[in-house]
Amino acid sequence: MCLRTGRKRIYEYPFMKNKIINELCGLLFQDRCPGCATFCQEPVCPRCFDGLARMVHGGNCLSESSIIAYQGRGYLLRVRAGGTYRGLVKELVLGLKNSGRRFAVPLSELMLIAAGNDPSFISPDIVTFVPTTGNKRKERGYNPPEVLSNLLCKRLGLRRVDALQIIRRMRDQDGLSAQERWENANESFGLRAGFEKVVCESRVLIVDDVFTTGATLMNCAIPFVEHGAREVCAIVAAATRRE
Ligand SMILES: [Zn+2]
Repeated sequence: MCLRTGRKRIYEYPFMKNKIINELCGLLFQDRCPGCATFCQEPVCPRCFDGLARMVHGGNCLSESSIIAYQGRGYLLRVRAGGTYRGLVKELVLGLKNSGRRFAVPLSELMLIAAGNDPSFISPDIVTFVPTTGNKRKERGYNPPEVLSNLLCKRLGLRRVDALQIIRRMRDQDGLSAQERWENANESFGLRAGFEKVVCESRVLIVDDVFTTGATLMNCAIPFVEHGAREVCAIVAAATRRE
């Protein structure tokens, strides 16, 4: 039985072991798992998903609970990741960025596993997401971190708010060096009107798709810290492996 959907898994039906039947199902499902190329209805087959889930449980995501400090301000941001940004996890993140929001479903499930029982990650007072520029949103029709935060909140019974806005013109972080990322993200985010008072003494969780240098997330955390948040944590679908 699939933990995510409650449906019986495809490979639990003995006839699916037959190659020809599997191929025929492909005509119905029209999709292959990026991990093992078997046909499946979901963005990743249950068997490959289990493999990814085991990696989170085993703590193999290097940045699962990494802590980054912002230079000069001494603020520590705890970050958890649903996976390491490589292989199948990377495929799913790229799928979410380029091919459709359905790829957020398995990623958000991995993020839930990474959240564990930590109250900072499963019962914060405020859950919000990293905003994107208007152009990017128009191109895609959605903002990946927002989609991930919606799914997480639905599973955790929390309300997601749109608390952050971009206040300074910034380029897309993709393709920039570490130094450029920090410069580009510096003081680029602020709170939306009305959130200044709500934030005080609250525990905040920020959702993003990929953690690279921490520049974006740290700059998203600062407005909350400055308005008196008790704690700010972040959860991401994937974190790049840091040497
Ligand atoms: Zn697979």
